[in-house]
Amino acid sequence: MTESEDMAEIRRAVQALCADFPGEYWRDKDRDRAYPAEFVDALTRSGFLAALIPPEYGGSGLKLDAAAVIMEEIQASGCNGASAHAQMYIMNTLLRYGSAEQKQRYLPGIASGELRLQAFGVSEPTSGTDTLSLRTVAVRDGDHYVVNGQKIWTSRAEYSDLMLLLARTTPRDAVAKRTEGLSIFLVDMREAVGKGMTIKPIRTMMNHSTTEVFFDDMRVPASALIGEEGQGFRYILSGMNAERILIASECVGDAKWFIARASDYARERKVFGRAIGQNQGIQFPIARAYAQMRAAELMVHHAAQVYDSGGNPGAEANMAKLLASEASWAAADMCVQTFGGFGFAEEYDVERKFREARLYTVAPISTNLILSYLAEHVLGLPRSY
Ligand SMILES: Cc1cc2nc3c(=O)[nH]c(=O)nc-3n(C[C@H](O)[C@H](O)[C@H](O)COP(=O)(O)OP(=O)(O)OC[C@H]3O[C@@H](n4cnc5c(N)ncnc54)[C@H](O)[C@@H]3O)c2cc1C
Repeated sequence: MTESEDMAEIRRAVQALCADFPGEYWRDKDRDRAYPAEFVDALTRSGFLAALIPPEYGGSGLKLDAAAVIMEEIQASGCNGASAHAQMYIMNTLLRYGSAEQKQRYLPGIASGELRLQAFGVSEPTSGTDTLSLRTVAVRDGDHYVVNGQKIWTSRAEYSDLMLLLARTTPRDAVAKRTEGLSIFLVDMREAVGKGMTIKPIRTMMNHSTTEVFFDDMRVPASALIGEEGQGFRYILSGMNAERILIASECVGDAKWFIARASDYARERKVFGRAIGQNQGIQFPIARAYAQMRAAELMVHHAAQVYDSGGNPGAEANMAKLLASEASWAAADMCVQTFGGFGFAEEYDVERKFREARLYTVAPISTNLILSYLAEHVLGLPRSY
């Protein structure tokens, strides 16, 4: 695949930034489950996190394809973009559906780094993947909404100033279409924490700063509503396509990291008097992982192009996420096998990246649900759930 010089320049700039955050930095953060604030700060100062913000609000006005390249290169450099990726994909909902006043109020602060937009509150403990069954409610009360309920897996909530929150504003049995009655709010967490919003961290197998968030009569100004009341599910689906494309590009970056590490190691490690990479039993899994990664990479760029040209990339975004998450996980497994025992030692970073890469066949949407989408919406098979 040939890339424009602009994209190659973005890659070089991201690589240069990431070089200041070597494996040792990530190992320390991982050991303490600490937020990589210095890395996120450097990404913000460099303008990368404001890539999608139009220039009139202080960003660089790039398209999703460029944002995907940024996220891919972060992962390919061994860093962990999960600490900051939400700003990119939440941004799309604000850009596409926010009012002129909301954009003016938030975008310049987000572009400068004064405001962090990192929390995305959709998942709930009881409804799981069945988003339309979520139970968090927002009830209008004068010029406010009163929010009650609970979210789970709200990552980076402790390190964000704003949360994009999906809540039910009309009871499910009072709407004509099951996709109506949900609304999106851009909640200012600085005002909400301790006044109706409580955040509880969840420790996970990798360093991901994820949390549970509880809402207890939290009052949100009506001006926090994005777009039209009741249309939030439609808005969030468009944002989810951007999210899937960006996460898929991170998976491609992870696969590239595993393949490069495995290839280097296979050339250098000598057993039985020769490089292990001379054995086809070691070469072939690396070559297969490479082919899988390249196929996924093509789908990611295709999906981003459909998104950028204003089309509906539902099928492409889902396929990109499916193929890329499977490619990165296959590459992760291959890399551990290539390293043998050293694949388990912290100092090689393989085990850390292995744990981090595992997430993406589950979140932000699990493989089964992608397959259901393709079966039903692309192939016309009966709905299974
Ligand atoms: C570390 C981490 C960070 C996350 N960050 C965020 C975040 O910032 N914001 C946010 O909103 N969410 C976040 N999530 C949530 C994530 O999007 C969900 O975990 C994911 O969508 C899967 O939902 P679930 O965990 O509720 O699984 P469930 O819906 O309970 O599903 C469990 C399993 O059953 C399968 N399954 C369910 N229904 C069907 C069916 N009809 N057919 C076939 N198989 C089915 C699923 O594929 C899955 O394998 C995060 C999750 C994790 C683990």
